[in-house]
Amino acid sequence: MRHPVVMGNWKLNGSKEMVSNLLKGLDAELKGLEGVDVAVAPPAMYLDLAEQLIGKAESKIILGAQNVDVNASGAFTGDISPEMLKDFGASHIIIGHSERRDYHNESDEFVAKKFAFLKEHGLTPVLCIGESEAQNEAGETVAVCARQIDAVINTQGVEALEGAIIAYEPIWAIGTGKAATADDAQRIHAAIRAHIAEKSEEVAKKVVIQYGGSVKPENAAAYFAQPDIDGALVGGAALDAASFAAIAKAA
Ligand code: PGA
Repeated sequence: MRHPVVMGNWKLNGSKEMVSNLLKGLDAELKGLEGVDVAVAPPAMYLDLAEQLIGKAESKIILGAQNVDVNASGAFTGDISPEMLKDFGASHIIIGHSERRDYHNESDEFVAKKFAFLKEHGLTPVLCIGESEAQNEAGETVAVCARQIDAVINTQGVEALEGAIIAYEPIWAIGTGKAATADDAQRIHAAIRAHIAEKSEEVAKKVVIQYGGSVKPENAAAYFAQPDIDGALVGGAALDAASFAAIAKAA
């Protein structure tokens, strides 16, 4: 059976004080919680502090990050390599978030390269996919998601998805409070899984597909009750320990 994963994407938010308070709060809230993997992706600047805090508390929180480069080292100003992430204990790495696709012009092919690079280094890619509002209205949702996943499948084979996480995040639902209904999300998740099953039923059955986009404590349980929704990627609500813990407990 698939194990749900609830991950907090902190985006460009934080300070030493905030990271410390949030992780301590989360640890207290999540004590004894079983049956769900809980991960957080702080800004890279704070991975060191987060690793220290998580290590000390013997916490169950999995450390993640928000991005990675496609180069191992060298003249690539501002970039971060998989080995650097590993050095700080980060294992679950978000790639292809719509904010990076939009603001940094990251293409499907570039994101697929990051996917391969993470796997090569034994890290878990959290591959974000999802359609814009215009694509949604044009009925292109499944085609867009399929294209984004195919960039990985066509270069690395469907088996590359084993052990990876897919986060379906309709762009119009991110940070807007306008979440997809649980029924609509389920329909898309099932279609994504069916698309992968065309290549391998085995992989399709095993791959974790999170929903993301305005997930809150109030709507989380409805998503997690759906057969093809395996956890969530949470932005805004992940910045508050009580809210994020409530979402994790609903999974
Ligand atoms: P949101 O962000 O929960 O604030 O909508 C989700 C995300 O961008 O991963």
